[in-house]
Amino acid sequence: MTGEKIRCDACPVMCYIAPGQTGACARYANDAGRIVRTDPVVMLSAATARGARIVPFAARDWDGDPFPDDTRVTGIGAGTTYPDYKPAPFIVSSQVDGADMVTVVTEAIFSYCGVKVKIDTDRFLGPETAVVRFQGEAAGHVTTAEYGSQMLSLGGVHHLTGGTKSEGRATCAALLALCNGQAVELTIDGGSLVVVQAGAAPIVDGRPENRMRVGCGSATIGMFAAQWRGLVDEVVVVDDHITGGVSEHQAGRVLGWEPTGIRILGHRSTPGRYFKVSEPGSGWGGTKLTDPLQILEAWNAKKGARAGLRLLMVSTTGEEFAYFVLDDALVPQPVPLPDALLPTVRLIDENCEPSRCTVLFMGGAGGSLRAGVTRNPVRLTQSVQGGETRLTSGGAECYVWPGGGITFMVDVTRLPPGAFGHVPTPALVAPLEFTLPRAVYLAMGGHDAAVRSLDQVLREGGEYPLAARLVGQG
Ligand code: SF4
Repeated sequence: MTGEKIRCDACPVMCYIAPGQTGACARYANDAGRIVRTDPVVMLSAATARGARIVPFAARDWDGDPFPDDTRVTGIGAGTTYPDYKPAPFIVSSQVDGADMVTVVTEAIFSYCGVKVKIDTDRFLGPETAVVRFQGEAAGHVTTAEYGSQMLSLGGVHHLTGGTKSEGRATCAALLALCNGQAVELTIDGGSLVVVQAGAAPIVDGRPENRMRVGCGSATIGMFAAQWRGLVDEVVVVDDHITGGVSEHQAGRVLGWEPTGIRILGHRSTPGRYFKVSEPGSGWGGTKLTDPLQILEAWNAKKGARAGLRLLMVSTTGEEFAYFVLDDALVPQPVPLPDALLPTVRLIDENCEPSRCTVLFMGGAGGSLRAGVTRNPVRLTQSVQGGETRLTSGGAECYVWPGGGITFMVDVTRLPPGAFGHVPTPALVAPLEFTLPRAVYLAMGGHDAAVRSLDQVLREGGEYPLAARLVGQG
């Protein structure tokens, strides 16, 4: 105690909190001389209707059976065990299909964490390894492009703790906002300004993305070559990675397309497949092209080019297309797209999925928080890796990386809103639940004396939380 202030010891910051005030993270408060968790602990039930229902812990008028049988306690609002010498905030026994189970829940503080962001777009966001900034501070980098998507890796211990204070603070703020489903504006060195929000369409340089490409240019040829047959003499699908030309492509050959004498600029990989026809950009198919004819050289009459030859050029989303007819000098002249070809372009568009941002939280739970679960921490790691202990985050399924430690990823849209918090060390706070058979829990050195039933939890509460909130889970 210092005067009227009391100390919160739920993280290394050790705030002194005045009565009626919250600490630096807003997760803990001084409630009439007692440290309390400001949010109720979240419990999930598939049997309950959607919508929050709050029950105060240890309430005098509690009816004794307020929650359905399938209620599961999550780590959201549960509080932390820092400095991890004590049992986790809630260790709850249950019966699952007649088996005695235990769920250990906690809010873990992660200095080793970040997010992997998948942005469904072919637009150029920035060179691979370029620095990604939030509020002007380095918060991550552009990583390898994937099929129809650009990937960012944000956060990590080096940005959180290894740079300046403002870098750490900005990185933590970006991670927290992204994990809680908020929109975040990121700038990429040598690239774009992109607005990212989990589950929403990305906005690249002020332009919302609508379509994720149907495939690369070669794949698009493979999918639709048969539908173009007889309607047009040549089709070029413009793509920053692999541009396709149907008459040379294996799909066109098999279907009997005639040679057209077309010559596509770029690195010819295999017949009808060209790399590097342009530079990456915000134009056709993720190139910087606004005029697709820039990737064509003079047509070769000896190899099939002739006046009147019909050419369709289209991007991998079908958003850009143009139709040409070769004149007597074998120069393509723009002509309105014939009605007969319009459905084929629309089919590309129809086969494109909506562009979305995906945010996966990634954290390392292999550290000291394990001591809140068991007195023999490596046994928990072994049990999770062995599939005996199931790890969830706020009730959501996690992917646990093979190898050492408990390094996991979770789709942030699968957690209830507001599930993530932070502390100013800086670090993120994320909910965790370990569920395993009670016999296994005891054998690994679990805190048996701290195991309680759900009824006990509701009657007695926890060290910090004041209330439980029941929400539906589909
Ligand atoms: S930052 Fe939050 S958890 Fe850490 S000591 Fe302050 S109030 Fe407690």
